[in-house]
Amino acid sequence: MRIFHLSAECYPVAKVGGLADVVGALPKYQNKAGLQAAVVMPYYDRKFTQENEFDIVYQGLTLLGERRLYYQILKERTDKLGFELYLVKIPGLIDRVEVYSYPDETEQFIAFQISFLDWINFSNQSPDIIHCHDHHSGLVPFLIKHSKVYTRLANIPTVFTIHNGQYHGAFGYNKLGYLPEIDETKIGLLDWAGAINPLASAVKCCWKYTTVSPSYLDELTKSSNGLEYLFYLEHNKGQGIINGIDTEVWDPSTDPMIAGNFTNKQITKGKAKNKAALCKHFELSTDKPLIAFIGRLVVEKGADIIAQAMEKSFIDHPDAFNLLILGAGDKETEKELLALKSAFPVNCNVFIGYDEPLAHLIYAGSDFLLMPSRVEPCGLNQLYALRYGTLPMVRSTGGLKDSVIDFGDENGYGIRFNNASIFDICHAVNRAIALFTDIKKLDILRKIMVELDFSWDKSANEYINLYNSLKPKI
Ligand code: ADP
Repeated sequence: MRIFHLSAECYPVAKVGGLADVVGALPKYQNKAGLQAAVVMPYYDRKFTQENEFDIVYQGLTLLGERRLYYQILKERTDKLGFELYLVKIPGLIDRVEVYSYPDETEQFIAFQISFLDWINFSNQSPDIIHCHDHHSGLVPFLIKHSKVYTRLANIPTVFTIHNGQYHGAFGYNKLGYLPEIDETKIGLLDWAGAINPLASAVKCCWKYTTVSPSYLDELTKSSNGLEYLFYLEHNKGQGIINGIDTEVWDPSTDPMIAGNFTNKQITKGKAKNKAALCKHFELSTDKPLIAFIGRLVVEKGADIIAQAMEKSFIDHPDAFNLLILGAGDKETEKELLALKSAFPVNCNVFIGYDEPLAHLIYAGSDFLLMPSRVEPCGLNQLYALRYGTLPMVRSTGGLKDSVIDFGDENGYGIRFNNASIFDICHAVNRAIALFTDIKKLDILRKIMVELDFSWDKSANEYINLYNSLKPKI
């Protein structure tokens, strides 16, 4: 079975968040299970593309409205990632450094999707499934069904996975002309609230949509930035499949980015070595519980209330714990966190930026990982933390609810709280400080955590079963 995954991100080619981790791992595990899964993504002028060799496997000319676009399809020569990697390159439009945030993002992603469809259409390819990820490829399910250009592809099943339902990629009808000639009677399938909405259109037109955790499937009917009613209507077409983690990349016994490798059996010693390296680097003492936060500094992640909550905890429990933050995002939040660091220099350090190796070291060397997310479709950080024996402190939402059991409950191993509020975060910090005084108990919990299985094998199979369920309709 030949699958094309379409995505804006893929680790290690270009990563902003969890989307990259999933698209960089799922196809690899699907191929191990006997499928032929490939990834197609936009070209970025980044380290991976500069350091690896590519062949031009196709080139063509397409139209974005009246603009003529000359596109190339590049293929990574060695399949070293465990799958075929194809990049769509368009000089001046899809050949830049950053993944997001350009003013002509709408044009970029439409051009990406049209070039992909033109390529497989005109090179006579017939994949068994086209698997689209997030709104950047959300117009494909509509286009292959209702654009007159792609009638040959109309019966290919499309699967759409929602990694983040807050972002829709919506744009005005003034850009309708960018799409290849469509069946105008079907225009309503593009629409939500008077705009062209790629996420909504994908949910309406795909054969099946998935969310990255079962809880998130239900949550979208209550909170999805205006699409709640759509998710309510289409609920039966949806399925929640929790993400796995790439246990080859995220393995404390081999991870080259941490200070000392350790197996599950050496967890206590291994973590102590990494904590020592981390604390030395950030000038924190090793004898206190180290609570870390890694992630985008946005409201969704509850990052806006971390500084206030931690200030209160530092005042309530002087010198009782240390805090380390790695993240970037909202400028006001960055400022507040840097002010917190200045106010509590002995117990708090903050690194504003994106740093993959540092994230690995923090997972390995911290005692606790805080995730006060308001929205968390799956969340990978808590899964990495568990794998590295770091106890997750999470708000009960989305995938956090599906993957973390409170240590007060039977077979539990984490700290859960209900609200993204200062009170709940401070209470979770109190519990962490208390737990740290009972090292025996913490060790037992660590041993439970590292034995948990969040590998891709199980979830990759769920996707394969889903593909198979679409086969009879082919
Ligand atoms: P999201 O995709 O919503 O940002 P996820 O939990 O699904 O959140 O995935 C986040 C991924 O990005 C994880 O691999 C995490 O380690 C990584 N990450 C987030 N922020 C940073 C950062 N500042 N530096 C390094 N890695 C980061």
